[in-house]
Amino acid sequence: MAHAALSPELARETASVWEKVKEFTTPLEWPAQAQLIHEINALKKERDAVILAHNYMTPDIFHGVGDYVGDSLGLAKEAAKSKAKVIVQAGVHFMAETSKILSPDKTVLIPDLKAGCSLAEAITGADVRLIKQKYPGLPVVTYVNTTADVKAETDICCTSANAVQVVEWAAREWGVDRVILIPDEFLARNVAAQTNIGIIAWKGRCIVHERFTADDIADMREAYPGAEILAHPECPEEILAAADFAGSTAAMTDYVVAKKPKQVVLITECSMASNIKGDVPEVNFIGPCNMCPYMKRITLENIRDCLRDMTFEVTVPEDMIVKAALAVQRMIDLPPPAVPARYDLVKAKHHVAVELI
Ligand code: SF4
Repeated sequence: MAHAALSPELARETASVWEKVKEFTTPLEWPAQAQLIHEINALKKERDAVILAHNYMTPDIFHGVGDYVGDSLGLAKEAAKSKAKVIVQAGVHFMAETSKILSPDKTVLIPDLKAGCSLAEAITGADVRLIKQKYPGLPVVTYVNTTADVKAETDICCTSANAVQVVEWAAREWGVDRVILIPDEFLARNVAAQTNIGIIAWKGRCIVHERFTADDIADMREAYPGAEILAHPECPEEILAAADFAGSTAAMTDYVVAKKPKQVVLITECSMASNIKGDVPEVNFIGPCNMCPYMKRITLENIRDCLRDMTFEVTVPEDMIVKAALAVQRMIDLPPPAVPARYDLVKAKHHVAVELI
């Protein structure tokens, strides 16, 4: 497609991106976005930088400038493998800290310091020290959506893709039948439904996923019979019980790309559907979705500024890096789960024992 305000060179350079984003932008906006993509790609070379773009970034970022795209753990692992000197985290602050923990010698930048996370802000390292005093001898499993000071107090991290496996591993290693799994209450409840290990949980919530209700699912079923409904395990249990499949953002992507359902509802952040759509145009994605206000602070403009001005650098104290890296690395060293966690199995289980702190 020709764009009046685009030079032929810029149109050629960005043609493949346009194909993936054209449903989510307009020919009017595109010339400015294409120009920013061009500037960012030039700055990346100049700075020897890579951009890690989370699944919840808008399509112009995800398809236009992301060198690595995926979930938070996948991105951090890529950060560690990359030879680039500079990492730009197109995501939220705890993800940038995780990149710094795994790549302490690299300069890690985030385009907006206010890109936080309600889950990460729900708990501090001091809280974890108090929990450990209350439950001596129990392993602390912490979701990756936490700050570096929380990870530094942790025995092992987990993601939504491996949480059940990590909880069972920790119980075996420590020789106990209860595990502390923090800070997401809903993830903890959804994990507890799939294991006989007792779970001690914290009352953290993701503001995007906690807002979905069972009525949303019922409404979608009625309006779109036959549509497959996929949910993220940060949602309340009743959502997962009503969904056809539940898993991490990476698991949802794999499911849609492999099965190509005619109609699909993703119960998660809005940009997930837009980004997968670029790869499976034949799939019809239906709402509802909720926007993450933290993720949406990242834009093409502030990514360009971040690379141009080398701001804002994310640092983590060295002693904290050493302790937090142990918890993250322990998780990375576990073999990948034989099958990705299927949280929809929650329907078949009745054993849910969660103690909320
Ligand atoms: S979607 Fe939820 S967990 Fe992810 S950054 Fe936003 S608030 Fe945090």
